[in-house]
Amino acid sequence: MSEPPVDPAQASGAAPPAEGEGAAQSKKGAKKAEAKAKKEAEKARKAAEREAAAAAQKAAAGGNEDLATDNYGAFTHTTRVAADKVQLKRLGDDHIGKTVKLRAWVQNARMQGAKMAFLELREERNWSIQCVIVATAEGKPVSKQMAKWVGALRLESYVLVEATVQKPLEPVKSCRVSNYELHLTKCYLIASGPEVLPLGLNAANRAIASFEDEDSSQPQAPAEGVENLSIADSAAAPSASLATHLNNPAMHKRAPVQQAIADVRMTVRKLFSEYLDSKDFVQFEAPCLIAAASEGGANVFSLPYFEKQAFLAQSPQFYKQFEIAGGRKRVYCIGPVFRAENSNTPRHMTEFTGLDLEMEIEDHYHEVRDMIEGVMIHIFRGLEERCKEEIELIRSIYPSDDFLLPEPGKEVRLTFAEGQKLLREEGPEEFRNVSDDEDMSTPQEKALGALVRKKFGTDFYVLDKFPEGARPFYTIEDPENPKVTNAYDFFMRGQEILSGGQRIHIPELLEARLRKKGIDPTSSGIREYVDVFRSAGVPPHGGGGIGLDRVVAWYLNLPSVHLTSYYPRTPKRLSP
Ligand code: ATP
Repeated sequence: MSEPPVDPAQASGAAPPAEGEGAAQSKKGAKKAEAKAKKEAEKARKAAEREAAAAAQKAAAGGNEDLATDNYGAFTHTTRVAADKVQLKRLGDDHIGKTVKLRAWVQNARMQGAKMAFLELREERNWSIQCVIVATAEGKPVSKQMAKWVGALRLESYVLVEATVQKPLEPVKSCRVSNYELHLTKCYLIASGPEVLPLGLNAANRAIASFEDEDSSQPQAPAEGVENLSIADSAAAPSASLATHLNNPAMHKRAPVQQAIADVRMTVRKLFSEYLDSKDFVQFEAPCLIAAASEGGANVFSLPYFEKQAFLAQSPQFYKQFEIAGGRKRVYCIGPVFRAENSNTPRHMTEFTGLDLEMEIEDHYHEVRDMIEGVMIHIFRGLEERCKEEIELIRSIYPSDDFLLPEPGKEVRLTFAEGQKLLREEGPEEFRNVSDDEDMSTPQEKALGALVRKKFGTDFYVLDKFPEGARPFYTIEDPENPKVTNAYDFFMRGQEILSGGQRIHIPELLEARLRKKGIDPTSSGIREYVDVFRSAGVPPHGGGGIGLDRVVAWYLNLPSVHLTSYYPRTPKRLSP
């Protein structure tokens, strides 16, 4: 029930008028007051109408008073947007109609008429969304000037926006988030892109045109007319050379394909550790600065070290073995490996990442071979499961066939001699006379890879029992046939990704083999290594070193390991 209206005179505490005369008087007064209030309301309505019309006229005229100045412009230390932060990959129907905020890169910007602009914002990887900004008749919250400013934002600028989430009339094909769009109400420029991008995102996201990686810092001008393409149209953009990519690290790394490759790389590292942890391996850290070359002296970087000379480690080989000598049964390490080889090939870098392991052998060195097979298959299966999206994206730019794996229990293990026989009998003409005593060349390895794929249906296999001459001094010879060693290489798509085998753990045997290889067992660094096996009884052991860069490159069938490294180091490139 509603309260009876309060008489204003009573409410103010004035004396009530006398009966009769008073009633007539109060009626008259009320009428007057009512008329006055009506008049005033009408006046106020007209004033408001005039004001709105004037504001709309001003906004429409442009260059006049801008009523949205607080909603756009340069981001300062006091700029705040109160709306809830949204991540594009988490946008859903429950966001529709809500006001959100987002920090992202301008992937595309264009005006549509005088009052409307479209933006494409990208948050990370290829998570992008279409944004619309339309000036309102009142010029608030979006003025014509604001829409114009947004439409002119430079590509790859970083912005903070406030917007309402809406359903677009039809799915936006050019953006990964195609079922929603953002209607901007605020936009602040945090950091501007340059007037002209030296490497546009479209070109950065295309397959590399040439792998010339000469360390020249000559900027390459983008081809005309390609900068305003959406990333979905990137096929229309020209591709760039590896040198242009590497000279523009920010844009090279912003390309979704590069981020996907980096994600696959980190997943391989994780899967490697995960599997070995589950098999009771312990991780350790090997030094990079060492006093003697670990792989026999060739291809080693040396540098002044106070009054002495130091070397950059060519592998953690000695240190893995010291860990076994030090009472660990199974160890692994992940770290940089340096090779001073002037090899300008898609397989080589002067610095790469080694995934290394070493373990005690109880009965036979094939325990190690099987362990490494196990970890590699865990990596391949893990990638199939965890990196589906990344692999699909990478394949859209670097097409490749699925990586074929052997069925469980049907792993392909050939001896080196069997591999050569296969090449002689079924390989290309030029390999009719390959010998069992000489190491394989890269074309031989590739031809064998193709044969194995055809014959056994796998892109992953092992070659065992390498010839004695092809293996380093610490490799044990086969006790039944000293012409070969208890050593193997692992291959992916016909390219080597791992070398390993059984090591010599008896100091006298080690000395003898050093001499056979022409190395002085008393030379600096080598003597200390041999002494470790004299200082305490060391169990038989073996292991292997996997090149992470090659695993990623060959799994994805990329044209070069230089694409899989964060900052490739080659004979010609030392920066960035
Ligand atoms: P290659 O004959 O291909 O030069 P390698 O026989 O010298 O290689 P190892 O010393 O056995 O190679 O190293 C073990 C693994 O480390 C290789 O199987 C490979 O995956 C990786 N690797 C070796 N050298 C390089 C390099 N320069 N760049 C990238 N990865 C490399």
